[in-house]
Amino acid sequence: MKSPIESAGLLLTFSLALLWTLSSPAQSVTPGAQPAALRVLILSGEGENNSRESTVFLRHLLQDSGRFEARVCESPVGLTVQTLASFEMVVDNSIGTSLGKETEKALETFVNSGKGLVVTRGGLDAASTSSAWLKLIKATRTAKAAANVDAPLHLFELKNASPQHPVMSGLKTNWRTADQPQTGLTLLSGTEVLGTNGQNEPLLFASNYGKGRVFITALGHDVGAMQEKAFITTFLRGAEWAGSGKVTLPTEIALPGPSTNGLRVLVITGGHDHETAFYGLFDGYKEFGWVPVSDSTLAFKQDIRSKYDVLVFYDFTRDIDDKAKKNLRDFVESGKGVVVLHHGILSFQKWPWWYEEVVGGLYRLESKGGIPNSTVKFGEEHWITSAGKHPITEGLTPFHVTDETYKGLLISSNNVPLLLTDNATSDRTVAWIGPCTTSKVVFIQLGHDHSPFQHPSYRALVHNSILWTAGKLK
Ligand SMILES: [Zn+2]
Repeated sequence: MKSPIESAGLLLTFSLALLWTLSSPAQSVTPGAQPAALRVLILSGEGENNSRESTVFLRHLLQDSGRFEARVCESPVGLTVQTLASFEMVVDNSIGTSLGKETEKALETFVNSGKGLVVTRGGLDAASTSSAWLKLIKATRTAKAAANVDAPLHLFELKNASPQHPVMSGLKTNWRTADQPQTGLTLLSGTEVLGTNGQNEPLLFASNYGKGRVFITALGHDVGAMQEKAFITTFLRGAEWAGSGKVTLPTEIALPGPSTNGLRVLVITGGHDHETAFYGLFDGYKEFGWVPVSDSTLAFKQDIRSKYDVLVFYDFTRDIDDKAKKNLRDFVESGKGVVVLHHGILSFQKWPWWYEEVVGGLYRLESKGGIPNSTVKFGEEHWITSAGKHPITEGLTPFHVTDETYKGLLISSNNVPLLLTDNATSDRTVAWIGPCTTSKVVFIQLGHDHSPFQHPSYRALVHNSILWTAGKLK
């Protein structure tokens, strides 16, 4: 609780669910109608940042489509037929890294046997001219292409050049997109052009080799361009076709959106400063929908029982009016979830129902009746252990974290301790189940800054607490 600030009018309406909190694509095929996931190996460049970043992104796209199970290989040189045998397809995203003759030869055998290969714009960069490779990709780069490498990102129309091909069937005739595609490619015979730019240069093309299939995309210069719907849709459909010979994915696929049937969590902040890294605690969990943020003055102006499943308090609210108190109380008494983190234990100093019957604790700002005020210490080392068996701490091993400590809190004897610390500047119990008889309530003392926010054990604790208070963790 360093330098508390007053921020009565604070309203953070932004939503927290970033890219990968996401569970299902904006459009997805009917569950149950999907065939088994295609196993994909993504070949990434060695040490190239751009390659790593785009590989991570492509892996998410593949996985989140629900159609693929993707693994990454960061050392693509020297792969053998046996290494590739357990995959249905390979995505070459080895930006600037040559795969080497051995891997190229193994890929030729792999595709020839009926498997699939997708080459990304980054994969095209390596520009191998080995005979095995040319047999597969059936394209060479002209001098013009090499000169074009630094063409700027621009808006253009991707033209559907082959509406009868499974990859392009049902796709828009002209698709406006922003990218810096690889142009100036010369295609060899046996290649079908699927998509072009306004100058009729091939940007998407496909071919068969032996019993297998090859799909090549010159789109997707960087992760920004890879977020375009035209890229996502053609990449995923091209990958599905290469891997299986069929396409079941939708004709327009956007970046995955938040889960529409996820847990409805409202985060309450305000009245106390904190790092924005705090909000990252809610990213990356498929069980959550969009996670909005409000402060207690605004949040409890209305009855929120039908809007949210769990409230997460990371605020320092001095007081709220009677109407707001009633709305919060109705929420708690309706059997919803409450998670209080760190300085949230300072709130409602004059509302005993809240700190005695709901949370089971309070940071004492003042000494009273001979009981001294609580104390705080920054930058202390904790060795955290479980206090007993509970679904929230199931599988959690002891962990070491640097965080602020609180000592001398009011702590209800009706709490169920969850976690203990060895640090003497802190109360011994640093997380508990509150005494509330109507809702499930969890308090976690840890959580001052990025140190705990980034710790996997702390993240698991917060995540599990939200699930458990919502009745989703047995
Ligand atoms: Zn703090």
